[in-house]
Amino acid sequence: MNSERMDLMEKQKTSKCYGWRGKILRVNLTAKTIQEEDLPEELMTGYIGGSGLNARLLYDLLRGNPQTDTLSPDNPLIFGCGPAVGTNFPCATRFTVTAKSPLTGIFGDSNAGGYFGIQVKKAGYDHIVITGASETPIALLIKEGTPAQLIDAQDLWGRDTYETDALIEKKFGACESARIGPAGEHLVRYANIFSGRKRVGANGRAGMGCVMGSKKLKAIIVSGSGTVPVADKNKLDELASRYREIWGKGPGTAANAEYGTLMLIAQIGAEVGIKNDQEKISEEQLNRYDLGEFITRYKRGKTACYRCPVGCSQKWGIDEGPYRGESGDKIEFGHYLHLGPLLGVFDFPSVFHLSDRINRLGMDCTQFGWNLAMAMECFQRGILGSEATDGIELDWGDVEMISRLMEKVASRDGFGDILAENIPEMIRRLGPAATPYGFHTKGMTFPYNRKEVLPMSLASSVAARGADHMKGHPFSGLVGAQEMLERIFGPDIPAEITDPRSPVAKGRVVWWHENYKMVMDSLGLCFIPIAATSIYGEPLILIEELGEIYQAITGKDAGTLFAAGERACQVEKSFNALLGISRKDDIRQGTTRGQEDPIHHPGMLDEYYFYRGCSTEGMPTRKRLEESGLADIADDLARAGKVANRECPPIEDLVAHT
Ligand code: SF4
Repeated sequence: MNSERMDLMEKQKTSKCYGWRGKILRVNLTAKTIQEEDLPEELMTGYIGGSGLNARLLYDLLRGNPQTDTLSPDNPLIFGCGPAVGTNFPCATRFTVTAKSPLTGIFGDSNAGGYFGIQVKKAGYDHIVITGASETPIALLIKEGTPAQLIDAQDLWGRDTYETDALIEKKFGACESARIGPAGEHLVRYANIFSGRKRVGANGRAGMGCVMGSKKLKAIIVSGSGTVPVADKNKLDELASRYREIWGKGPGTAANAEYGTLMLIAQIGAEVGIKNDQEKISEEQLNRYDLGEFITRYKRGKTACYRCPVGCSQKWGIDEGPYRGESGDKIEFGHYLHLGPLLGVFDFPSVFHLSDRINRLGMDCTQFGWNLAMAMECFQRGILGSEATDGIELDWGDVEMISRLMEKVASRDGFGDILAENIPEMIRRLGPAATPYGFHTKGMTFPYNRKEVLPMSLASSVAARGADHMKGHPFSGLVGAQEMLERIFGPDIPAEITDPRSPVAKGRVVWWHENYKMVMDSLGLCFIPIAATSIYGEPLILIEELGEIYQAITGKDAGTLFAAGERACQVEKSFNALLGISRKDDIRQGTTRGQEDPIHHPGMLDEYYFYRGCSTEGMPTRKRLEESGLADIADDLARAGKVANRECPPIEDLVAHT
């Protein structure tokens, strides 16, 4: 270790808290107690904040009883905002909600942007840990300068996510809220948490809104005006101004600014699967989703998260047809994919209409779409009849039927009660004939099965929260970013690493991206501008660049950042290992429709486990856990018979830079 780094580590021991507010708010809804607690230094530096620190808090709260029922008062609901959130750095808006997932029964978390996390930081907190459950609807009110309090929320119960916020604004004025809709109240297993007002966001995945509903917690209302102190203001100002320029005016983010995530309609194009992925979208169907038409006919402006120069959130409005007069402010590629082609719907107005409905009800459009698509294919094949669906015909492309079923799911009415579950439970209730048509990994959709995008297929299979593309989005391997991959792994990388159709070296790509994304989510930085500019190398924003930002904000040693990402990923995997998750669970379930499942490409999963420091069965190893400073977790796993003793190389031997 060089002397400069030793000096920095010495200073850290005595330094004031920068970036972090240094406080956890602990709320017990059963006992109706609220306590402030100091955030221990070793948690800040060891896990950064946000997602990473949330994972450790969850692990510690449930390590004694990982089998805790996900809807029991003992399942904690943890909000975390990293050290960058609330500073003047652009796009530092992301906060994470973590709990044991009621959708999958394993580790669960979900990340969102907007303004809510900013207000939490300004009010003086990094994390809010909620345990227990109220018997009646309740809300948590956090106003800077006055003690946080629990307030009655009977008047909000039953309201949708937008109505709830409108009532909150009327009552409390300028503030931000994170709230659930009817789906969360009725314990739909994929209910989300909606937040924001000027720019709405959703913690969509893994059913965090269901956990909130199980606690009868309708909303968290927060307002603060404090500033987040930073260690090196001049340096951070310089970095903020540099990245504001790049992200606001550079070519990398131009499409995001114009179309938001809808830009992926053009990028992914004809690869999109329709009608429960039975076939690919036709040219004629795809042409009905013309992005030029989106701009000229439907776009009504855009919104941006706090201090974001991109502004990727698209506002829309409809002037004609059956949905004339409707408008909305949150439409993403996920809405298009899962409420459009997947269900046989092929026009923008219908997708907008359905997206607004599902946003208001407070449900994850991805899981809803795949659950309903499975039921619709079963209906098409005669496995399911209208006697089991409350007399509703599940015909592809029937927008009114889809809208009606959304309402039934959100209230768990009739057939909606089945659709409100996860795929394995739906199969249990629909019968074994439904098995081939339900796609999931570890209980969550949507699993990739695309030989054209092997890094994504692998990332989705091994993601700790179940099949999902955002835990370790492997964009460098998808677009063949040679310069980026050389910087990560050194110049001697195999040529096939840049080919997304080749399984070669994809394990290491996914491993690195999981740690990298964990660092972003823990700092609280938005993935979109970082990935958009790195893809084009203008400029590359890798661990070293994130470290520069981290150091300017916190004054801490940036050289520990990649190891902190690894540590947090190990905690998530270890939590799952305690619950019996292993290699068998990293395999996608559901029919492959005659194609070989890419996950079985020889060596792809094995290489991932090698880099992740797991056994060939996907179990964490004592060696890597101890290297990550997690000997206590290795001991927990050993007692449960879940730790492997395989030798694995140190992290610094696996990459060119940590
Ligand atoms: S790019 Fe989009 S999601 Fe990211 S901070 Fe900006 S507005 Fe928010």
